[in-house]
Amino acid sequence: MVATETVPTAEPLIVLEKVNKYFGDLHVLHDVDLSVERGEVVVVIGPSGSGKSTLCRAINRLEPINSGTIRFDGKVLPAEGRELARLRSDVGMVFQSFNLFAHKTILQNVTLGPIKVRKEKPAAARERGLALLERVGIANQAEKYPAQLSGGQQQRAAIARALAMQPKAMLFDEPTSALDPEMVGEVLEVMTSLARDGMTMVVVTHEMGFARHAANRVVFMADGQLVEQAEPVEFFANPRSDRAKDFLSKIL
Ligand code: ADP
Ligand code: MG
Repeated sequence: MVATETVPTAEPLIVLEKVNKYFGDLHVLHDVDLSVERGEVVVVIGPSGSGKSTLCRAINRLEPINSGTIRFDGKVLPAEGRELARLRSDVGMVFQSFNLFAHKTILQNVTLGPIKVRKEKPAAARERGLALLERVGIANQAEKYPAQLSGGQQQRAAIARALAMQPKAMLFDEPTSALDPEMVGEVLEVMTSLARDGMTMVVVTHEMGFARHAANRVVFMADGQLVEQAEPVEFFANPRSDRAKDFLSKIL
């Protein structure tokens, strides 16, 4: 056998090439090129309306794109069907609003996907679910309902639920923006520990502390374009574009 056939692909886990997205006449993603390496943590920042959420949603095809390609783990994103379902379970997504099932307990929220989609045995899913709740620090809340938890605990439950599907990457879209200030830290702590454990992550956030300490790379978006990207130390010390300088001057 030829050696090259057995060498695993060195391709980054997520690759976007010349991605364009319109909502009607509005050009929301403009020739976006972005690669995310395996184990890399990319923080996406930029003004409101710059296309950050659309970018996240495009990566797991919650939003169709008009042109360009998106590859995940070496494969072009499937448009529909079983392949798409598999992709969705490979990419965990955590939103600003926690999106937990209100009428299910925290543990049921975490075990539902594994049992229904991954066909795990309930007992095994339960055991793994409890371990995940332990990992995010809310094992003692397992039998409660979402409304009985604080916002920070609910968001940690949402992270555990995403992890229960054993994703290859996690996308976070402003995961702490809806939280009371005193709960932001506990969620960022869980995300930081995930990053340290080698999870591939794309994180849209205004938490510049997280960007500085946990990101391998910061990507700055404005008007649907990736304006610049750099390592956090470099980006914060020395933003190159006027748009980035202006943005940083407003938030730092
Ligand atoms: P961000 O997350 O950076 O704030 P979004 O990706 O949410 O930006 O939005 C980018 C632009 O696309 C904004 O102008 C927004 O109003 C518009 N937009 C987002 N979703 C839709 C939609 N479903 N229909 C029409 N316009 C949308
Ligand atoms: Mg957004």
